[in-house]
Amino acid sequence: MKEKGSCPKCGEITPNKGNRLCATCYWIPRAQHSAKLQLARLEQPWVQELWRAFEIWLLRNFSPYNAWKWMFPSGDAFAEFDERFCSAQDMTTESVLAIGGPEWLRKHGYVSRFLAHTKIVDITDRERNEWAELRRIQDILDASTGENRQILNAFINYCRRGKGIQSKTLRVYLKAGQSFLQSTKSPICEVSEKTIYNFLRRHPGHRSSLFRFVTFLREAGYAPEAAVPKRPKKYRSGYSARVIGRIEAFSKEFDATGSIPRKRALCAAAIAEMLGVPLEYCLRLHRQDINLEVQSCEVRVQEDWYSCAMVIDRLIREVAKIDIGDDRLFPGKLPSDTLSAVGAAYHVKIALKNVI
Ligand SMILES: [Zn+2]
Repeated sequence: MKEKGSCPKCGEITPNKGNRLCATCYWIPRAQHSAKLQLARLEQPWVQELWRAFEIWLLRNFSPYNAWKWMFPSGDAFAEFDERFCSAQDMTTESVLAIGGPEWLRKHGYVSRFLAHTKIVDITDRERNEWAELRRIQDILDASTGENRQILNAFINYCRRGKGIQSKTLRVYLKAGQSFLQSTKSPICEVSEKTIYNFLRRHPGHRSSLFRFVTFLREAGYAPEAAVPKRPKKYRSGYSARVIGRIEAFSKEFDATGSIPRKRALCAAAIAEMLGVPLEYCLRLHRQDINLEVQSCEVRVQEDWYSCAMVIDRLIREVAKIDIGDDRLFPGKLPSDTLSAVGAAYHVKIALKNVI
């Protein structure tokens, strides 16, 4: 067994042998010292008071090491407050954002969390995550040049048109598009189903995220022949163990649940998995995109019909029996809407919780 030591100051057992200070006894005095140095920079009493509150909050809520590490850079943010604002009342979401935009608040992540915690500034985790995604999107763009950059820019505008797209989803689509542009040697106007097939053979993980980009290339006229090759039609021979495992998990949860929205979400997810197209695409399928006259039933993606073997045939037939009067296969709560992609993703997550 590994020998352990104990902290000479507080007696805490430490992971290393020999009597060294524990993390708390080592970092806390350093963090406090750093806080004192930062305090000396601040002139206005109300800013000093706010800084002391920040120090306590930081020490209380984060590891001693992180408190030490972030104390010093956070002092810069408070020095900025000291210079700009005459009282705490001057600090609002707008005035703090005016310092350096979301980027500045993101850089001073602990300070902005503290400001949100004290309700001085009303910024939610959601907004912070959104800024981080926008930053990543910008990084992807910055890593591209010339024509590729133009195309990716046009793709972003294309995705943002119409119904909103989440920034995280947009970033995943953009990344797939960027990888494709970078690794493809043929001129963009000559991109065809074959080019994309070759790319996906090397990057199978991009399959469903590339779908939107390829549709864009075709619709925007960059590559009239571009199309994502569908997965092979023969179920038994053409699918990886992972795809089959996921479809089986969907079917199992489908049978176990009594919830109609969950059954619908899992049926759509199984179709998406089988064809290698995005879930949100399958959620928009209508009854006329399904042919139940044949055994196994068929699903239409754009102009092509794909036959659904095994378990998926059964799921579709069961779902199709619900709300016969509705034109949509996966209706949502509103008469004009289909099941939401976020809601469906939740049901999928439940079904997959035991699948690696
Ligand atoms: Zn100690």
